[in-house]
Amino acid sequence: MSTVERPSTERVEELKESLADIRSRVKAVSLTTSKPTLVAVSKYKPASDILACFEDEQLDFGENYVQELEDKAAVLPGEIRWHFIGTLQSNKAKVLAAIPNLYSIQTLASIKTATALNKAFPSDRSTPLRVLLQVNTSGEDSKSGLPPLSSSNVEEFELTQLATHIVKECPKLRLEGLMTIGALELSLTASETEKNADFERLKETRDALHAHLVKQFGESNAGKWGHETTGKLLLSMGMSSDFDAALKSGSDIVRVGTGIFGQRVKKTTA
Ligand SMILES: *Cc1c(COP(=O)(O)O)cnc(C)c1O
Repeated sequence: MSTVERPSTERVEELKESLADIRSRVKAVSLTTSKPTLVAVSKYKPASDILACFEDEQLDFGENYVQELEDKAAVLPGEIRWHFIGTLQSNKAKVLAAIPNLYSIQTLASIKTATALNKAFPSDRSTPLRVLLQVNTSGEDSKSGLPPLSSSNVEEFELTQLATHIVKECPKLRLEGLMTIGALELSLTASETEKNADFERLKETRDALHAHLVKQFGESNAGKWGHETTGKLLLSMGMSSDFDAALKSGSDIVRVGTGIFGQRVKKTTA
């Protein structure tokens, strides 16, 4: 096993400061709700940055690329909870499922990939793999994910069919919630009074899906989806530019990259 280069003292201080700032902002918005999860999005950032945050008690990290995640997971502490938040193809399911401390996949959007993950996920894990379904709340072509639900004909939507497939046919997966990115313009033009339409749409979709699952499988089966202890389908929404608004809309998981690590520079060499 190779070792991770130590972060410089300057970088440790810098990351400590930005983490403290983001944590206090998360805390300030979420005083009245249950404690949200802050996922530090570390794509393109060196393993030494992740180590510095880990040593400052950050456990949840998000990565977008299977290869990059695999490489980092191999050299970083096993206590880290990795969240996969990138575009996922079914042919990568096997590599991803083999990462021992993979905590969740937030970007599931097809039955084919769900089936592949369920097949590939090792049977001897103590907990099922948490999955969140990606919803394209803004309807932009550039964004992945399935269309949100409307209040009628819920059963006809691909999202509902995927959720049903997971609960019924994928015992090694746990349907934990829904995830969205949302339109950037909405976060840039956000005001104190107006609610972010994408975040509201994800919440409505969650409520409609929850009602449908209860109708389909019964209250007594409600323990098969949602958060392990509360049974609530979680919402993953909010990034550096809009996590305050997302938390006000009821987000359970925020994914913050730039706000913690600074601007990303795409590198061709790792
Ligand atoms: C990169 C990324 C983030 C983090 O974005 P920032 O604006 O840097 O906070 C969050 N979610 C997803 C899906 C991402 O790809």
